[in-house]
Amino acid sequence: MKDRMNSRLRPRRLTSPQDLVETGLAEPGRLAELEAIAKRYAIGLTPALAELIQPGDPADPIARQFVPDPRELIRDPAERDDPIGDDAMSPVKGLVHRYPDRALIKLVAVCAVYCRFCFRRERVGPGSGSLSGAEFAAALDYVRAHPAIWEVILTGGDPLTLSPRRIAEATQAIAAIEHVKVLRWHTRMPVAAPERVTTGIARALIAEGRTTVVAVHANHARELTQAARDACRRLMAEGAMLVSQSVLLKGVNDDAETLIDLMRAFVEAGVKPYYLHHGDLAPGTAHWRTSIAKGQELMRVLRARLSGLATPAYMLDIPGGHGKAPIGPQWIRQGEDGRHVVTDPRGIEHVYADRLGSGE
Ligand code: SF4
Repeated sequence: MKDRMNSRLRPRRLTSPQDLVETGLAEPGRLAELEAIAKRYAIGLTPALAELIQPGDPADPIARQFVPDPRELIRDPAERDDPIGDDAMSPVKGLVHRYPDRALIKLVAVCAVYCRFCFRRERVGPGSGSLSGAEFAAALDYVRAHPAIWEVILTGGDPLTLSPRRIAEATQAIAAIEHVKVLRWHTRMPVAAPERVTTGIARALIAEGRTTVVAVHANHARELTQAARDACRRLMAEGAMLVSQSVLLKGVNDDAETLIDLMRAFVEAGVKPYYLHHGDLAPGTAHWRTSIAKGQELMRVLRARLSGLATPAYMLDIPGGHGKAPIGPQWIRQGEDGRHVVTDPRGIEHVYADRLGSGE
């Protein structure tokens, strides 16, 4: 059954409720319900990820991320169309300037896959368009006029949906700005369509004298297939530094063993675990979020079981555009006698007193 399904899936990307039903990823009886969700939020699932799904298992952690759920149409009053406040920090179209030394440019509003928990779900989708040449030029003018901008983050949507030529043009235009030293590309493409992350794409991301970072989004170790790892190697071979991004998702990765497997898989693929995001307040995503207390408890286990190399920072994007804050558990507190109390990886506390040289 699985082989038959896989051979039908392999050639094409799934973009409609009908596609999901025809390929056995949704029951035929769900068609009307899926159509209602698809009117509001795009569907997209690539062959590389569809092949990983265990048919007939509604709890499959890959299927859950991409097959629509009726709870997406239930909106919690605290949820926002723009949960991390991009609009409030956008001086020109497509550019977000939230921190003095970083600017983010949203090159495209399309993705290879559409994650059901997407924090920009009200903004991304097939009809949402890319930055025009004039809009990109205006974004570059803004970066040029702000010498404090040291790093430019290219995002969307997924900017690796662009052709190698368009990627190279963007890379070279940004790298030509003297004060920009780092270009960071946010993408799900190495796991969503690893075959598209060619050496040509990898070369297009690189600019002489600049550092290229690729932030790879994956949420479950199964996404880091051999093909995905090969795609990461191609990026590294051309000189990119790789870091990870994941979202803490109920029913996908909200248990310690799954997160440990994911973080180790990243490191094995050459990707430094960087951020584990607490779920943003995007519309219709309450069923994905855990409590912060649960996230902190998971981070305590990760700290005890993983090396620093494999441990991400647990981050909250403060709603309203106020930026990111690390919200992991605290490992040090002030004791009553003014000395520090530090917790070791096993959870045992130790007293530590500063010992400073004279004059300090
Ligand atoms: S790849 Fe990123 S931007 Fe695209 S749907 Fe998933 S979370 Fe949203």
